[in-house]
Amino acid sequence: MGWVEEVHQDILDAVHELKDGFLEFASRMIQVDTSNPPGDYSVIVPLVEEELRRFGLPTEVVSVPAEAAEALGFDRPRSNVIARLPGRRIRPCLVLNPHLDTVPVGDPSGWRYPPLSGVIAEGKLWGRGACDCKGRLASFALAMAAIKRAGIELNGSLVLAVTADEEVGGELGTGWLVEHGLLEADWAIMEGFINVIFRGCGGMLGLRILFHGESAHTSTPWLGVSAIEKAARGIGALQALQAELEAELSDIPEFRHSTINIGTIRGGTKDSVVPSRCEVSLDARLMPGHSPQLILERIRDKLEALAREDVHFRYELHPTRMEEPYLTPVDSPVISAIQRGVQAVRGEALPVCVSRGGSDAKYFIRRGVPAVSFGPGLKPDSMHHGTNEHIEVSDFLDASVVTALAAIDLLGIA
Ligand SMILES: [Zn+2]
Repeated sequence: MGWVEEVHQDILDAVHELKDGFLEFASRMIQVDTSNPPGDYSVIVPLVEEELRRFGLPTEVVSVPAEAAEALGFDRPRSNVIARLPGRRIRPCLVLNPHLDTVPVGDPSGWRYPPLSGVIAEGKLWGRGACDCKGRLASFALAMAAIKRAGIELNGSLVLAVTADEEVGGELGTGWLVEHGLLEADWAIMEGFINVIFRGCGGMLGLRILFHGESAHTSTPWLGVSAIEKAARGIGALQALQAELEAELSDIPEFRHSTINIGTIRGGTKDSVVPSRCEVSLDARLMPGHSPQLILERIRDKLEALAREDVHFRYELHPTRMEEPYLTPVDSPVISAIQRGVQAVRGEALPVCVSRGGSDAKYFIRRGVPAVSFGPGLKPDSMHHGTNEHIEVSDFLDASVVTALAAIDLLGIA
């Protein structure tokens, strides 16, 4: 009999013993509004501390100095909660990393149950944050508490880092803890889904393109240069580049290819004036192998070709965001540990993909710490960030068991 079979039943029993308390914990967290912005942690942090302590998990609050929060434009304090399940040794160390904040509720009228109710009905937990990330937070905490309840002493240490601001970039949450050496780890499991493992993220390029013209009265347009007409030609060039990118397929399952979305266009002052200025902004999501610098150069090449044909074609490029792709190797032990857990609980293997959106995994991966996403969300059915966000109670329980098994696998039994 392998180790999985040996501990599986004990973990299963412990999870079922503790489950009502942790579902209640998730529900209580959903009732506290932590939409970000503004991200108010004054009520949720004491609640999380109280609940984790109730289940025998000692906590420590790491508050970010007010000056650091103010420097990033936040008008209220930023705090993180860390709970540790110490093993015989400090290393190896696995960090479980859910977050406290949510996206705003949005229009509540389409919700089946009020978004801040945290209702458990129809076998599901409902509300803003039910999936992203309060249900996941409770599921990770349950995994940790179940290991303790089952009387399993780990060889290495298991850390639950409940962080601020994931929904706005995570600088003062996971970023702060990692940069300040408070989360020295060998692996991290970030909040995620039960039907796919994400092992990182493609790159991003945010770009503002300013097209210049010369204003003139509409009655004599030949005296001016229309910036909007130049921008239209520039957009045509961006579309040509998009067509090229669509033919450069990624070998990563489901990533498809790099994309350019032209998100905004602003130009002109009045119908009777030839516009002197037009600004276009875009968001490009890049497959591994396409660095933001490379795509920026390809955009410049296309626009330069237009400028060579037309002396009045004048533009400026202002990058607003340049993020390199970040990836955990596909053969990392943290991926195989989760796969073994999923195999034990559900008899299946999960697809391993690369996300097209950002995550706090970047703070770990950039420091050489393998980080992947897993948890009780169901992609796309859980509607995270959407109306009627929810998780299945059965997924909540299965994800807790898988997380506990993966932690035991990685850290070993003392
Ligand atoms: Zn999240």
